[in-house]
Amino acid sequence: MDNAANEIMNESNKMPTNIKKEENNSKQNVLNNIINNPLKMKCLCEANTSLHINNSLNKIIFVYSKPKVGSTSLVTSLRIFASNIFNIVHIHDEEMLKVLGNIHDITVNEIILYNKIIGKQVYVIDIYRTPIERKISTFFEKINTYHYMAEPEQLEKYKIEHIIERFNKIFPYIGNGDNFLDVYDIEKPQSFPYDKKYISITENDIKYIKLRLKDSHSWETILQDELKIKIKIIRDYETTSKPINTIYTKFKKHYKIPFKHLEDIQKCSYLNYYYSPDEKIQYLNDWYNKTSSNIISFTPDEFKLYEYICIENNNHATFVQLNHYLDEGCICKACQIKRNAIAKQILKGEQRVERIFHEEAKSELIENRLNVFNKIMNSLSKKQTIQQKKPNNRITTMKNIVDFR
Ligand SMILES: [Zn+2]
Repeated sequence: MDNAANEIMNESNKMPTNIKKEENNSKQNVLNNIINNPLKMKCLCEANTSLHINNSLNKIIFVYSKPKVGSTSLVTSLRIFASNIFNIVHIHDEEMLKVLGNIHDITVNEIILYNKIIGKQVYVIDIYRTPIERKISTFFEKINTYHYMAEPEQLEKYKIEHIIERFNKIFPYIGNGDNFLDVYDIEKPQSFPYDKKYISITENDIKYIKLRLKDSHSWETILQDELKIKIKIIRDYETTSKPINTIYTKFKKHYKIPFKHLEDIQKCSYLNYYYSPDEKIQYLNDWYNKTSSNIISFTPDEFKLYEYICIENNNHATFVQLNHYLDEGCICKACQIKRNAIAKQILKGEQRVERIFHEEAKSELIENRLNVFNKIMNSLSKKQTIQQKKPNNRITTMKNIVDFR
């Protein structure tokens, strides 16, 4: 299998055709077009409000990636360790802007540039994940809501061969694209710096960073260097921790990739850009050992029909990936207190991370404050009755207890 992979690699070690060099003039034009358009500036200011980033923090990180590339772990880690310094925005595409922020007719790139224009220090981060793993993860993200209308428990009763067959039929059409190469409006390096393990480019005074999921063990050092923060990477929102875990694990155990799909993967322009020849050979060889006979995938028209039926079956629900983070990113006092405590636990080596949801953090803070209040009142009552104390002399008030903003 080594030779087969080698042959294919020699054929395919080419740059993606969609890497374009942009003229500097056109960059300045894009900036000027925004600055000189009062209506656009107003819409972008409103977009910042919708994204909850119109606050006093001067630094902002956009984790602007495709779904299922490992971005949720990165976002949660950044939130826990850097929410006091950075606003952190997680975005996949313009569709997500519409659904989550009711933001229309504005691109993510424009929001990024706008934040630079108003004086913020802006970082944009993307992650590359290998195609087969990403496609599997993408398929399972919506398996019980979109592909099959079945509860996870029902799905577990399905024959795994049928689920594998379905996946193989739609394989070419899912989990494609790369924001850094396709969407970021910047000049890209001709090749990926395999030794350095990440790309860092500054353009329009905005820093763009491209990581690879395979290097996640190095992210702490990379981010410490690039963002000047101390950070631990937390594994968040992995499919293995979700209700579909059983069927997902079974799928990964039994899945063999049709040879034709693997041949297509070795031509993948993104894989050929982000992986060195040696890394590609190793990746493909691992999969060559798990190949099956070919199956016929849906044609583009058949896939369109498949999508149509899935959407119809789900009553036209919008399938924007809604992430459920361990840290939802609220920067109120209650969430910051909880976040700081969790960050300390993680740095001490704690593996289990408690989630940081605003309502829970708020209740916990009120409860803690009430406990402190009661303790103080009890100790005071030992010396004198509470009624003898003047209200103004009280240590705290109920208003202070519930004021967590
Ligand atoms: Zn909060």
